Amino acid sequence: MARCDEGYLCDVCGQEVEDIVDSDLYLRYILGEVSPLALPTMRERHILCNPATAQYIVDDAFPPVECAGAFCKDGLDPDHVAEQQAKVTRAWRRLQAIPTLGIAITEYPLPEVRAAWDGAAARREPDVQDDCAQEKA
Ligand SMILES: [Zn+2]
Repeated sequence: MARCDEGYLCDVCGQEVEDIVDSDLYLRYILGEVSPLALPTMRERHILCNPATAQYIVDDAFPPVECAGAFCKDGLDPDHVAEQQAKVTRAWRRLQAIPTLGIAITEYPLPEVRAAWDGAAARREPDVQDDCAQEKA
């Protein structure tokens, strides 16, 4: 009972997600599938409790996960699977390193994800300036 209610419980198994390295939510954040704004509002989940994503982690340090059903990678396009494996494995390795990297949460996502978000923010700027210019004209 000493534990405060700060713990994040897994949406699937109901157990606490104790370490960020086991967090499916942060893995998907690193992948760019969860936006920084959505992050605090999303439910936590263990990586192992989300086999649809976990099956793409291919690393000696990660026991292979089988995903049954429609999302099983065995039934998907091999090119898509190879692409997903490369990306999700890279994100997973980054997640494992997060506790020792000493970086801000905004730096967690993969470089191309951060670049895309920066680009989207930068593209919005000129629109605002254009509107202002038109009002002045
Ligand atoms: Zn779980």
